[in-house]
Amino acid sequence: MAAPATTMDKIVALCKRRGFIFQSSEIYGGIGGFWDYGPLGTELKRNIKEAWWNDMVRNHPPGPDGREFQMVGVDCSIIMNPKVWEASGHVGGFSDPMVDCKCCKGRFRADQIDETPCPKKPSKMVGQHADCDLTEPREFNLMFQTHIGALQDATSIAYLRPETAQGIFANFKNVVDSSRVKLPLGIAQIGKSFRNEINPRNYTFRSREFEQYEIEFFCHPEEAAIWYEFWRDLRHSWYTGLGLTSDLLRLRNHEGDELAHYAKACADVEYDFPFGLSELEGIANRTDFDLKAHIEHSGKDLSYFDAERKERYVPYVIEPSGGVDRSVLAFITEAYTYDESRASKEFMNFHPRLAPIKAAVFPLVAKDGMPEIAQPIYEEIRRQYPCQYDAKQAIGKRYARMDEAGTPFCFTIDGQTKEDGTVTVRNRDDASQDRIDKSRCLEYLRDQLHI
Ligand code: ATP
Repeated sequence: MAAPATTMDKIVALCKRRGFIFQSSEIYGGIGGFWDYGPLGTELKRNIKEAWWNDMVRNHPPGPDGREFQMVGVDCSIIMNPKVWEASGHVGGFSDPMVDCKCCKGRFRADQIDETPCPKKPSKMVGQHADCDLTEPREFNLMFQTHIGALQDATSIAYLRPETAQGIFANFKNVVDSSRVKLPLGIAQIGKSFRNEINPRNYTFRSREFEQYEIEFFCHPEEAAIWYEFWRDLRHSWYTGLGLTSDLLRLRNHEGDELAHYAKACADVEYDFPFGLSELEGIANRTDFDLKAHIEHSGKDLSYFDAERKERYVPYVIEPSGGVDRSVLAFITEAYTYDESRASKEFMNFHPRLAPIKAAVFPLVAKDGMPEIAQPIYEEIRRQYPCQYDAKQAIGKRYARMDEAGTPFCFTIDGQTKEDGTVTVRNRDDASQDRIDKSRCLEYLRDQLHI
């Protein structure tokens, strides 16, 4: 019998039951567009961010034709001088068209009503139910406003950043002047961003508070096209390398009329979630648009003197801009596997680098000298890998819990261990069992995980 289709309901239920993701403020009825990560989700998210930082910043591959380039990081403040958002165009133009329904009092994105179920009759879309009474669309700015200091008037307005990119642009000169770096140069940042989305939906996919990983890659204008292709392909293959290998992952080049006015080229990495094909990351050749805007608004010279070319220019920028939470959701969706034959019925086959727990150690029973053998094995493994020790419940239940957490290997100490010194090692992906010498558990993990 074919496995039933993966649905968001199943993913959401598993995420809550096993502590990947919780609704924010759930005990008070929640709050729309905000989410918390539980113990397993926190580890998973950290692993994704660490993999990104390692693979893109610390240990990035060579550029096209083996060209060298440098990557450094910044960690900028969430609230910046509001002039930054005037220069970037966010104060004037970062808005979505919004409509209200006078009947159900719902508020919707005008460009999404055809895909948004009507709250009164969810089998119909907004606007298609006889009672729907929609207002004309009007623009709604997505930036969250706050005030700085005690006075709350127009002069104290500030914004929670809607993207991490502008902190990088505003610091371009600081980084170049302080770090002995030269172009081509990428500046990376991981951090929270905030958008007052009109209609947060599809679980964590469209939230009001989310985390981004962004790179602004500065290069000579003549080389921008080559670097754009490099980053587009590297970002796509990064997802594949971490396990998004199914044909649900796509790379889509934007057509001419879809490009932003300042962009020369753009592509999206998309994932076909149960709710449809949606953007995980955008890679764009943004030309010199952002630096020039900041030069104009700040009055500061942000051009770069290229000592090798003996030329001064405003660099072009390639921007790979991804959402950490959307990646978490894609990795969870891809890992979710239905298997009728096992106790848990479902397991998460995360890539070993991403798995929140890499191994578990179980004494079959909490007596007969088994815990005494299991404990030192656990102590040895956990010095190197996140590992859990569990001596309670039937062994099938313990395997089931590790299957749902996506733990690649479990080591079980049983009666035979005392006779011949071997332990059972159980493989998450096919539930197969093998016996290895109890002294080899850590070595076995290292060989199998390749991390
Ligand atoms: P969308 O069209 O889906 O709103 P966008 O094109 O506005 O996204 P960007 O401004 O390019 O998105 O932001 C870069 C990345 O930040 C996106 O690819 C996405 O992964 C993430 N992101 C943007 N908005 C949200 C959100 N509301 N919730 C979660 N992640 C988001």
